[in-house]
Amino acid sequence: MEKLIAQYENIRRRMKAYLFANNLANWDSTTEAPKGCFDNRSVQMGVLNEEYYKLQTGEETVAVIDALFARREELNPILKHEIAERKEALDKIKKVPMNEYVDFMTLLGSSEHVWAQAKKASDWKMFLPLFEKILAFQKKYVKYVETKNLKGYDVLLDEFEKGYTTKEYDKFFEVLKTDLVPFVKKVLTKDLQIDDSFNKQLFPAEKQKQFMLHLQTVMNFDKDHGLMKESEHPFTTNFGSCTDVRFTNHYYENLFASAIFSAIHEMGHATYEMQVDPALDQTLSGGGGSMALHESQSRFYENILGRSKEFWRANLPALRKVFPKQLKGVSLETFYRFINRSQASLIRTEADELTYPIHVMIRYDLERALFNDEIAPADLPKAWNQKVKEYLGLDVPNDKEGVLQDVHWAWGYFGYFPTYALGSAYAAQIFAKMNSEFKVLKSLESGSTKQINEWLKDRLHKYGSTKYPKELFKGVAGANFDPKYYLKYLVKKYSKIYGLKP
Ligand SMILES: [Zn+2]
Repeated sequence: MEKLIAQYENIRRRMKAYLFANNLANWDSTTEAPKGCFDNRSVQMGVLNEEYYKLQTGEETVAVIDALFARREELNPILKHEIAERKEALDKIKKVPMNEYVDFMTLLGSSEHVWAQAKKASDWKMFLPLFEKILAFQKKYVKYVETKNLKGYDVLLDEFEKGYTTKEYDKFFEVLKTDLVPFVKKVLTKDLQIDDSFNKQLFPAEKQKQFMLHLQTVMNFDKDHGLMKESEHPFTTNFGSCTDVRFTNHYYENLFASAIFSAIHEMGHATYEMQVDPALDQTLSGGGGSMALHESQSRFYENILGRSKEFWRANLPALRKVFPKQLKGVSLETFYRFINRSQASLIRTEADELTYPIHVMIRYDLERALFNDEIAPADLPKAWNQKVKEYLGLDVPNDKEGVLQDVHWAWGYFGYFPTYALGSAYAAQIFAKMNSEFKVLKSLESGSTKQINEWLKDRLHKYGSTKYPKELFKGVAGANFDPKYYLKYLVKKYSKIYGLKP
């Protein structure tokens, strides 16, 4: 047994080194690399990826994992869980014919580019042939790997959030459809009537960056183990360790709030990564517990804390110091309403906290219908536009602002979207639990999220990905997931802002 474990640890060490190199190169690609370097870079990355793939699926690896899996009852719980996950992934790879998998990867190699061109031209038909191929492969893939309990679209949903299938998501989105949508429609008929002329001024990027340093202090961001840079789209990454966690931001001088909430969001992800138990650094069980759990943390910090009145009671003075001219005469109340204004919009990534899950619900409905053969890819724009009209009351003027807006399908990601909404809903239930133990928003008056960070570290973050999402969630929320908390949270917050009876 000891020999087997040592053998596994040796393979894992090498795997982590490849992952490290890959992440470091990606970080450099998105933040600093000069435009002209990418042809050469793709050659080097191709070699590294191939070696990594061989290591992951090679004979020795398969034999060691099979042997450890057979004797899993003798392993410590962390290694037992890690081996079970590895074994499941390897078994899946074995079921897919190698040539088909390679063809699919090749297809994906050009798909983002084709999607970007189609989006630019706002023409679904340009993307359609490729979309059909990607979907066809995913349907075939599902057939190869499906089991008695996990079939069709459920296979993919379960891959992005273990233990969550249409059974759970149907229940979740049904609550949104029957209870949230009518409430949102009421909110959308109201106008908050705030004077937002301050938002039409320029907020120099250099000054915005100054405020980011303040936000880092508020969120207790550990600068010895993390840093912030710029990229086109904000994101967070780690290097296989909680000792090096980095995030990016993007500054718009005519949309100053964007960088503020992106930073809080990304620092939510980063706090999760940084607070994982350092003992997990040498394992593959570090990092966040799942897609939705990760998103629950970023959205908790961004929306529940970052868009609260208490947060800005503590931090508006600092923002005002950086932008005295731009924010002259803007009261806390006006600022609070401004950052929480809800409006029907076409683009998911720009949607406010209240309408956001509806955008996700639309994508879930469509993906489900595609995998059930209820709609054909050619009819997707029409189906999309109908749903946007039905739930948000908007006419979609073109494919660019409709069916072509997100890159996910071009990456072959079906089943990913629902985790975004699930994350927000997780956050609301975690918030309720936290509030039952201390006054969460009031603690922000201390000028720091320290108490909150520590609570989350103790209940969730330190465990990394040593358990399945349902178990991790129960550990932090004290109960199984229940969408009612999310509904209650949104209705309470927005009824107050909009002067509606809840
Ligand atoms: Zn996120």
